Amino acid sequence: MENLNVLFVASECTPFAKTGGLGDVVGVLPKYLKKMGYNVKVVIPRYYSIDKNFLDKLPDPLGVPMGIIGELWCGVYRTTLPNSDVEIFFIDYENFFGRKDLYNYEDGTGYIDNDNRFIFLSKASLQLSKRLNFRPDIIHINDWHTSMIPHMLKTYYKHDEHFSDTKVVLTIHNMQYQGVFYSGCMDVLGSWEYYFDYEFNGKVNFLKGGIYLSDMITTVSEGYAREIQTPEFAYGLEGVVRDRSSNLFGILNGVDYDEWDPETDKFIPKNYSINDLSGKNVCKLELQRRFGLPERDVPIFGVISRLVHQKGIDILAEAIYKILSLDIQFVLLGNGEPWAHFFFGKIAYDNPDKFGCFIGYDNKLAHLIEAGSDFFVMPSRFEPCGLNQMYSLKYGTPPIVHAVGGLNDTVDNFDEVSGSGTGFKFYGLNAQNLFNTIGWATYSYYNLKSNLEKLRRNGMEKYFTWDDAAKKYIDVYRMAKGIKGKFS
Ligand code: ADP
Repeated sequence: MENLNVLFVASECTPFAKTGGLGDVVGVLPKYLKKMGYNVKVVIPRYYSIDKNFLDKLPDPLGVPMGIIGELWCGVYRTTLPNSDVEIFFIDYENFFGRKDLYNYEDGTGYIDNDNRFIFLSKASLQLSKRLNFRPDIIHINDWHTSMIPHMLKTYYKHDEHFSDTKVVLTIHNMQYQGVFYSGCMDVLGSWEYYFDYEFNGKVNFLKGGIYLSDMITTVSEGYAREIQTPEFAYGLEGVVRDRSSNLFGILNGVDYDEWDPETDKFIPKNYSINDLSGKNVCKLELQRRFGLPERDVPIFGVISRLVHQKGIDILAEAIYKILSLDIQFVLLGNGEPWAHFFFGKIAYDNPDKFGCFIGYDNKLAHLIEAGSDFFVMPSRFEPCGLNQMYSLKYGTPPIVHAVGGLNDTVDNFDEVSGSGTGFKFYGLNAQNLFNTIGWATYSYYNLKSNLEKLRRNGMEKYFTWDDAAKKYIDVYRMAKGIKGKFS
């Protein structure tokens, strides 16, 4: 097997910095590629929250040419991804990354210099690969933040031997966030070449350029790869995606079962498996205790989500009064749009016996909700892949999902006559359909116990491995490099 060098550049990487699925992919996929014999390195920013004391500092500062701004100098730190020898490097530049949140001010608006911040990350990662003498066969870029890298390779580094064999693979984790900025940022890039590949209503759209200039493009489910070719899901870039559709592939994320498996989960009060589900009840009682809900036999519906429009949280808000008229309990963990914090906080205050809510980010609690709930609710407006529904399947907590993107690809609808399927799907996102489906699940809990049990077990048997996903990424890398013969 050939020995490709792969440089991952991203704005997040779990466990160091994560706001969502992007961080999970960047934290896990490189380890699997490494296991398959590839040389992989990862580069992300050294955000304020990443403690330097646990990292090694590279001896010399790194110069980063920033076009009209001039050259900026940064520090570089290094460590390895947990339980692996994959090296991860952190670009340390206080003025850009020494802030509380990754992308936004506290009110949710993006930092005014996000264009410069991520041009800087992108340039720094290329400079670093030269410093390390690591000649990448593939640079794997992720979302808009690093989408300017192919532009840099085609302009500033065009004649640089170091990158003469480099191909770029872009993974789109979310099409909604595109990185649209005042066109003056082309001056920071140092070149207006390819401007029209980026141009978007008189501004510069980083993701648009990434889609046009990368060699191959992937997104995180096959369903989403089809959807982003349509206006409903592409936020203005459907034509651009369609132009590149022959180089676009959907690769479903795997699940990190080292972290998300009820048999070994360190965060839940009792482990359980498909062969012995008794521990799930212990988790349910603990969940009820945690939220101060009455400890009785009643279906619990769980939500863990960024509380944003994408996740259909407004639809949940519209439906919640009717949902709470059923004999159920509901727990919600999340943070995001301020209105949702107040709204669901008030629902919890008004319905202490039925609705528990924790506003914030809490990984340990997320595990308990997966384990202790009877159903998991995901009414996403769009969902590139979605991880929580896959975790839910493993935890014997059938997901209730709007049939889009990765949710549609990973969940099979319940057939209440045979007990086949893995969850509950609804088509058409509105409060009535969400309520009806939660009603159906509630009815099943009380009246279709044995087939619901089958459904639960069908889900637990599902296995979404990173091994499979990694093989598919390798296929894409090979296509980018023009290497014949598929891995899988
Ligand atoms: P997205 O990337 O769009 O946020 P995913 O379902 O792909 O959605 O990934 C969400 C990840 O973030 C999951 O691992 C989920 O458990 C986690 N998560 C989201 N919100 C919270 C929260 N408030 N507390 C703990 N974990 C959360």
